[in-house]
Amino acid sequence: MPLFSILQVGGLQTNCYIIKSDDSNECAVIDPGGEPQRVIDEVRSAELELKYILCTHGHPDHTGGVKLLQEELGGDLYLAFSDIKYSAQPPGWLVAALDGFTPPPEPATKLNSAVSVQLGSSDILFLRTPGHTPGSTCFLFEEMVFTGDTLFKESIGRHDLPGGDGKQELESIRDKLLVLPDQTPVLPGHGPSTTIAAEKASNPFLAELL
Ligand SMILES: [Zn+2]
Repeated sequence: MPLFSILQVGGLQTNCYIIKSDDSNECAVIDPGGEPQRVIDEVRSAELELKYILCTHGHPDHTGGVKLLQEELGGDLYLAFSDIKYSAQPPGWLVAALDGFTPPPEPATKLNSAVSVQLGSSDILFLRTPGHTPGSTCFLFEEMVFTGDTLFKESIGRHDLPGGDGKQELESIRDKLLVLPDQTPVLPGHGPSTTIAAEKASNPFLAELL
């Protein structure tokens, strides 16, 4: 199964996804936002090899578990350079809400400009989708798209936080996500999964794009 596991981590219930290639034990973890020990245990108990840690953006609820996860299991980190500052000094209440928050380590320079990386014999495509944050990135793997806080079921990410841009967010969704095949599963950073078709049909924030 390319989507190996979904863990809801931390007080903001971030969806942390473990994805795996069908033909190897290589895995990638998307958005280990908190409770790193749970993620470590999950990867270890399945005897997977952690190749990449991929953050859809730099908000602390998506990065808080990266450091401990990487210290234990390795893996190259992708976190857009422009988003690092959002995890540097989160407010105290947020740190308290995010079980196990630790500021993330330096991302891997070689991944910052990557278009794709290989996991087993499959590619993970990086779709740059600025708007929620300047560095927001969605990941396309095995015809599933992981959308972070850019696109949710029947909603979109807030764009009133520092660095957010609502117009840019909608353009990113139109140009990078709505062009995917209708049946594409959408796996967001919070809340239930959906599909591109379902969002075209019922997401009120996208009505002006269609
Ligand atoms: Zn966010």
